[in-house]
Amino acid sequence: MPTITLDTLGTLGTFQDSAPYDYLIVGAGFAGSVLAERLAEGLGKRVLLVDRRDHIGGNAYDHLDEAGVLVHRYGPHIFHTNAQRIVDYLSRFTEWRPYEHRVLAQVDEHRVPIPINLTTLNTLFGLSMDEAQAEAFLAQRAEPVDPIRTSEDVVINQIGRELYETFFRGYTRKQWGLDPSQLDKSVTSRVPTRTNTDDRYFTDQFQMMPLHGYTRMFERMLDHPNIDVLLSTDFRTVRERIPHRELVYCGPIDEYFDHCFGRLPYRSLRFQHETIDQEQFQPVAVVNYPDEAVPYTRITEYKHLTGQQHPRTSVTYEFPCAEGDPYYPVPRAENAELYKRYKALADETPGVTFLGRLGTYKYYNMDQVIGQALALYQRIAEQEGVELKAHEVEPG
Ligand SMILES: Cc1cc2nc3c(=O)[nH]c(=O)nc-3n(C[C@H](O)[C@H](O)[C@H](O)COP(=O)(O)OP(=O)(O)OC[C@H]3O[C@@H](n4cnc5c(N)ncnc54)[C@H](O)[C@@H]3O)c2cc1C
Repeated sequence: MPTITLDTLGTLGTFQDSAPYDYLIVGAGFAGSVLAERLAEGLGKRVLLVDRRDHIGGNAYDHLDEAGVLVHRYGPHIFHTNAQRIVDYLSRFTEWRPYEHRVLAQVDEHRVPIPINLTTLNTLFGLSMDEAQAEAFLAQRAEPVDPIRTSEDVVINQIGRELYETFFRGYTRKQWGLDPSQLDKSVTSRVPTRTNTDDRYFTDQFQMMPLHGYTRMFERMLDHPNIDVLLSTDFRTVRERIPHRELVYCGPIDEYFDHCFGRLPYRSLRFQHETIDQEQFQPVAVVNYPDEAVPYTRITEYKHLTGQQHPRTSVTYEFPCAEGDPYYPVPRAENAELYKRYKALADETPGVTFLGRLGTYKYYNMDQVIGQALALYQRIAEQEGVELKAHEVEPG
């Protein structure tokens, strides 16, 4: 992968009239890397990709830790999607390992499947219900709420207060630093409740992990003579020094505008990584801790995700916090309003396009961010009058 340094940049800075780069892209996560690859390979553009971290891959970055175990530095990333097109695109850069994600929740002395399913209910309540009985059981507990506005409303309306308090209230309060009654209904709407024994966390058609890890996949994506990568460099320190024609910014949109309307709130995480002298630590990749008295939200053991054979194992504890790297846009109406003001400002700022999870202040999974980058590529290609092949065109 062609990487350059700030010293090389010193010489580039002399190209005042003829910009050496067609595109300067900020952020080497999925958004920036997919767009860089497409522009370079599809349209022959010269691209400089800048990231302030010392690695590519954004939050999906993985690496071998000191013990030689492949771990995800920013928490577990599981690839899942219903879009064949996204799978086909990534398959140019990686082979896959089939993997279906399963999560358990620690409730008192029990470890039960989450999302809640028939096994969860039977274990917690000491019952042996079948599917129909479980449906009646939940219907009896549900407390109708109308209208449904918040994350609390969604769950209580569906499964009642006791299960809400067991699984959702403490976890959400830890994760977001807010009570579910203060959060948009979208947060808990994503979590289904099942009355069958399906214990998969995701139900998407495609669920898998890149066989040699995410970072390897990014390396292959960015291995192109038209792409230069500049790491450990904040865009703000080089924006005047890099001649370019177009800018695509995948960092936080409020930061780009010097927080002129105030800060967009993000929830952050502190990751505590540990290696343990045993082959396996827990039965599945992720165990959630909904109890508010436990300071972390979940523990991840990576070998379940990667299939790596190793006599030791590495795990990560996640401690949500207010300060730190911006991970999760906080879904509240007032934040959406504040984002709209930045978006309006962005729309009237020429020469820059905002992309990705931070650039558009939206909780996106990896496949959605890839879709967003491919859609932007399609728009750019169309503007340039380049005809794309059928498989490159967004359906609908
Ligand atoms: C804990 C956690 C778990 C997740 N698990 C999953 C999962 O299982 N499945 C899934 O599909 N998705 C998951 N996601 C979501 C996934 O991480 C995102 O969809 C994806 O990383 C978004 O890619 P991006 O390129 O938009 O942003 P990022 O990956 O955040 O990349 C943005 C990059 O921009 C850089 N940057 C920002 N500002 C500047 C600047 N001023 N100068 C230079 N560089 C800058 C940052 O350093 C960063 O590397 C998870 C997210 C988190 C936080």
